[in-house]
Amino acid sequence: RTVYVNGEYLPEDQARVSVFDRGFLMADGVYEVVSVLGGKLIDFAGHMVRLRRSLSELAIAEPLTDDDYLAAHRELIARNDITDGLVYLQVTRGNPGDRDFAYPPEGTTPTVVMFTQSKPGLADAPAARTGWTVVSVPDLRWGRRDIKTVQLLYPSMAKMEAKARGADDAWMVEEGRVTEGTSNNAYIVRGNTIITRELSHDILHGITRAAVLRFAAEAQMQVEERAFTIDEAQQADEAFVTSASAFVMPVVRIDDAAVGSGTVGPVATRLREIYLEESLKLGV
Ligand code: PMP
Repeated sequence: RTVYVNGEYLPEDQARVSVFDRGFLMADGVYEVVSVLGGKLIDFAGHMVRLRRSLSELAIAEPLTDDDYLAAHRELIARNDITDGLVYLQVTRGNPGDRDFAYPPEGTTPTVVMFTQSKPGLADAPAARTGWTVVSVPDLRWGRRDIKTVQLLYPSMAKMEAKARGADDAWMVEEGRVTEGTSNNAYIVRGNTIITRELSHDILHGITRAAVLRFAAEAQMQVEERAFTIDEAQQADEAFVTSASAFVMPVVRIDDAAVGSGTVGPVATRLREIYLEESLKLGV
C-alpha cells in the first residue's frame, strides 16, 4: 500500500512517525473514516466538518485545508486502486521532541497520516441480510465522546468481550441507558418511529446518523431523539446501528432476546437502501 505521512506518499514500510509523537504516547489525536463506494467518497464534507470540530475542541492546529484533504484522499484512492473501501485519516498534536503532559508550544506541527483499506463489495455485506447480534456492556469511556479521539482502548475491549460472548458488537450502557455501539450509533424502531439517543458529550455525533435521520424524515418516518434502555430495545420492533463503514446495519438480537421477529426488519432494510442510494448520488 501507499500511505500518506505529512505531505508525502510512501510505501507503507517506509512511512515513519516519531516515538515522541503525542498520538503514540498520549492518544493525543483525532481521526476520521470516510467510505469509498465505486471510487467515490461518501459524505466527505460532513467528515471534514467533524474533523475540524474535534481539532478545535483539543486546540490542535489546523494542518490542511479541505481541498488538501480531498486531493490526498483522491490520490490515495488512485494510487491504491480502491473501488470500494475506506480512507482512514488521523491528525495528532505532533512531535514535541520529548514526553510532557503539557501541550507543546504553539508552532509544533501536527502529524497527518492517511491510509486506505480495500473492501470489495462493501455495500453488499452479507451481514446486512442476517443482521448483527449485540451484547450490552457498561460504558466506561471518558466524558467527551463527542470528540473523535484515537483513544479507542475501551471500545476495543468491549468489541473483544462481544466476540467472546459470540456477538458481533457491544452496546454500551450508562445510567441504565444505551449510549452507542463500539463504533456506531444505536437505534430502535417502534412502529413508524425511529428512536436514537440525543446528541451530547455522551456520544459521537455520527455523520451517518445525521444523514439517516434526514432521509428518515424525508421518507415520512417519525424521529425521536432520546435515550432508551436495553429492555425497551429488546421489546422494540427493530434495532439497527449506523456508521460510515457499516452504513445501516440491522441488529436482530440484544443479549438473550431476539428483537421483534429476530430477523432483519423492513425499516432498517429500507433505510439502508435509501442511505446507500442517496449518499452515492452525493459522493465526490
Ligand atoms: N459512535 C462511535 C463511538 C464511533 O466510533 C463511530 C464511528 N467512528 C460512530 C458512532 C459512527 O460515526 P460515523 O457515522 O460518523 O461513522
